[in-house]
Amino acid sequence: MAYQSTNPYDGKILQTFDPINANQLEEKLHRASVCFSDDWRSRSYADRAAVLSRAAAILRERPEEFAKLITLEMGKLLPQSIGEVALSAAILDYYAQNAERFLAPEKLVTAKGEALVESSPIGVLFGVEPWNYPYYQIARFAAPNLMAGNVVMVKHASSVPQCALAFERLMQEAGAPAGAYTNLFISKDQVSQVIDDPRIRGVALTGSEAAGAVVAARAGQNLKKTTMELGGSDAFIVLEDADLDKAVKCAVSGRMGNSGQACTASKRFIVVEALADRFLEKFQAALENFKPGDPLDKQTTLAPLSSAEALENLLGQVQRAVAGGARVVMGGERIDRTGAFMQPTILTDISEKNPAYKQEFFGPVALFFRVPDEDAAVALANDSPFGLGGSVFTQDIERGKQLARRIDTGMVFINAPASSSPELPFGGVKNSGYGRELSGAGIQEFVNKKLIRVA
Ligand code: NAP
Repeated sequence: MAYQSTNPYDGKILQTFDPINANQLEEKLHRASVCFSDDWRSRSYADRAAVLSRAAAILRERPEEFAKLITLEMGKLLPQSIGEVALSAAILDYYAQNAERFLAPEKLVTAKGEALVESSPIGVLFGVEPWNYPYYQIARFAAPNLMAGNVVMVKHASSVPQCALAFERLMQEAGAPAGAYTNLFISKDQVSQVIDDPRIRGVALTGSEAAGAVVAARAGQNLKKTTMELGGSDAFIVLEDADLDKAVKCAVSGRMGNSGQACTASKRFIVVEALADRFLEKFQAALENFKPGDPLDKQTTLAPLSSAEALENLLGQVQRAVAGGARVVMGGERIDRTGAFMQPTILTDISEKNPAYKQEFFGPVALFFRVPDEDAAVALANDSPFGLGGSVFTQDIERGKQLARRIDTGMVFINAPASSSPELPFGGVKNSGYGRELSGAGIQEFVNKKLIRVA
């Protein structure tokens, strides 16, 4: 399997890279391991921070250069790609500035003598990452772990090899020593070999449930810790006292950002009966305004999906949903033009027996449900195999918080669609995975909490 960059706007193949061979893989593993033991683990926080801050500065100096690669390889609208570059820089800076505080030794209160817990790095970590946010996903994994003193190796999605190389070059340019950050163009078999390798001490995956199950099982056989950031089918609950216009605006950005290809995109719109018709009418009207075009053109509002295959998968899901009884309110088809363009789509009348009821739709397809009241909204929101994020719209913030507590997910946003920021923990429960990235929590996942006891 090759690593291939194909522009989803016009289907043109841009570049192809072969997976590395066994000798090259061994050399990279060796270099990472030596970098950890002989160099990176013993550097001061200030030394490590200098590298990460420099990487952030380079991203800020040349945002378009990095952003254009995202847009060319996976189709994201250029302004959104530029936003992703800025967010990645913010994550690098955040850990450069806060890691030492997060990992400071903790004195314990003990009856006799002295006791403290120190956070030490554990070694070489392996990350398997998805194409939908090609730099942000890597920054989330690499920044905290590098600051903790670990070194990282990354297998990026095979559709974004130019972004994968750009991030590796970024770290080199920022002064990271050879082996601190390593990109791996490897096959699925080699992924297993890397997980099995004794030099690898932890594994993080962001991606689908299917990939997560394979990688977590392999790591489990090797007794290696994992974090899993998997899919979601986030509920977007609108209560009868919501600000309707605000809710609709957020529904549009929550569903359409990144062409709907976000794990925390709003996917199931659960609206209380009193507002359901008006919400649906305004939501539909807003989705009709999206204009497909070249994602490099700043006037375009509807980007292609990441690949022709992604479009086929989504169309298949919509067709099966309709065969199962769902009604198409709008859209439902590919857009008749070159490129992987999907019509903004709303489906309703999705019964529990419909396969769509429990699936994630990774694209601009909204599932719309009307419910009698708040309790029914919570029950429907929780009737999902996923537990990543969700939103609640109400003008009564206390009521929003109470409802948020009843939702079985890792994140709930009141009066906003899901978003991500360096200081906010990110992650889910149920089939959305386990562990957290970002914030103080994200740097604690792959460190040894070592007790030092003085008798
Ligand atoms: P995917 O197919 O699971 O790919 C993600 C990564 O896993 C890629 O690097 C992929 O490599 C690799 N991979 C896939 N199957 C594998 C296997 N059997 N063994 C080893 N590696 C494997 O995910 P996707 O469909 O591209 O991405 C979308 C999914 O990711 C959605 O479900 C989305 O919700 C989820 N996601 C979750 C988060 C989160 O933080 N919770 C964030 C973003 C996306 P190849 O490209 O070479 O196949």
